[in-house]
Amino acid sequence: MIVFSGVSKRYGSSVALHPVELEFAAEKVTALIGPSGCGKSTILRLLVGLVEPDEGEIWVDGQRMSAESKLGLRRNMGYVIQDGGLFPHLTSRQNVMLLPEHLNRQSEVDLKGLAALTQFPEAALDRFPLELSGGQRQRVALMRALALEPSTLLLDEPLGALDPLIRADLQRDLKEIFARVKHTVVLVTHDMGEAAYLADKIVLMRDGRVVQQGTLREFQEQPAEPFVTEFLNAQRTVVAI
Ligand code: ADP
Ligand code: MG
Repeated sequence: MIVFSGVSKRYGSSVALHPVELEFAAEKVTALIGPSGCGKSTILRLLVGLVEPDEGEIWVDGQRMSAESKLGLRRNMGYVIQDGGLFPHLTSRQNVMLLPEHLNRQSEVDLKGLAALTQFPEAALDRFPLELSGGQRQRVALMRALALEPSTLLLDEPLGALDPLIRADLQRDLKEIFARVKHTVVLVTHDMGEAAYLADKIVLMRDGRVVQQGTLREFQEQPAEPFVTEFLNAQRTVVAI
């Protein structure tokens, strides 16, 4: 389990995150959702230790994140940054193997298994990102995040830039991956349908604060404030699953 206890973050004079209390349950999928700029990516960056909280503490499986523990904790997290972040001059295979090779852990990586798990065609492993479709690029980013079998998976709008059919395909595949590999998943999305389909718990944010946490049904039936309903109504199709 991951716990944010009174964690806040500001950049200069602008507050990205007001002090928040959050729990990401072990082996469950939590979706972070909300308008652009509300602090979703900041939460993931705090979690992998790319930025440090101004206040509060982050606990990962009972261990407090600190300057000393950060690197060790990060090694157990797979992170797909917004827009995938593949290196364009490396093939898919090289992108996936870069960190494992750097850590001299390449023998632990089951590339065949990863390709099967993410439904990525093995024949495309030696292609460069620009030679892949958008959906395939996201599958490579996912393979890279999963390569060292992390127990936590952080996904920042992994399906944001994909067309609807490819998106639906990947949503199905992600759901299966989450069910098969028991990760603690934090998924950032701006699509409530996607959050409801993939997540056990949805955290709706606005302006660096948590507005409501729970299920889509709870948001619909007991909105914590008018913004919740407003946000749901702004989504073209919202289906409870
Ligand atoms: P989201 O992912 O929800 O769109 P972010 O977490 O990226 O939002 O950003 C939250 C707020 O913090 C935004 O107002 C954004 O402009 C600001 N912010 C994010 N990163 C930086 C940074 N490195 N420097 C200054 N401001 C930042
Ligand atoms: Mg973001």
